[in-house]
Amino acid sequence: MFFSMRKHASKLIAATLAIGTLASISAAALDQPVAMLSSNLNASVGTVLTSDEISTAEQALAKAKAEAEAKAKAEAEAKKAEAEKAAAQQSAYNDLLTAPVSAKTVAYSSSLLATDSIKSKATSLGNYKLTFYCPCATCNGVAGAKTASGTTPTEGRTIAVDSSIIPLGSRVYIEGYGVFIAEDTGGAIKNNKIDVFVSSHSRAYELGVQYANVYLLG
Ligand SMILES: [Zn+2]
Repeated sequence: MFFSMRKHASKLIAATLAIGTLASISAAALDQPVAMLSSNLNASVGTVLTSDEISTAEQALAKAKAEAEAKAKAEAEAKKAEAEKAAAQQSAYNDLLTAPVSAKTVAYSSSLLATDSIKSKATSLGNYKLTFYCPCATCNGVAGAKTASGTTPTEGRTIAVDSSIIPLGSRVYIEGYGVFIAEDTGGAIKNNKIDVFVSSHSRAYELGVQYANVYLLG
């Protein structure tokens, strides 16, 4: 009903103005009908806006505001979580670069697969053939030899590499095995081959030959 009143009033205004223009009625003559129509229009508008439409509009506005706030909050939380994840990844990667590489038992573990940060930040050297050696004369020619870099070979830290590809002293991440230091070389260790030091000949034999993705850290 109110809408039809508004429609009616606006039609009347339009008609009156059209008559005013076409028939050259004086401005003064239009004053009264225009004032009356304005009054009617205001009344109808006022009536409409004080009805349920106001609360409906307010509710819609409040809902839109709440939704916008919830969206902004969720976006801020997601951004924060992403930043925290990136910081944790950076911290874990920094540990790989700087934490001492201590002796450990060499064994494959799925928990040592390359993380996204290793994949994105380290230099991928490709897939390597891993063999294993121990301090014995069979493995080294001389029992108990020092490494090519002068260190005492240590399981979990020492690997022999082709030093023209992996410079001695480099930190190397062997996927599935963890971080090692390139400390040694070997006559047969060329190109995509790494000889991994372990403490006993039987374990070197048991580990046999493996293949793993290798990353140069740093
Ligand atoms: Zn051996």
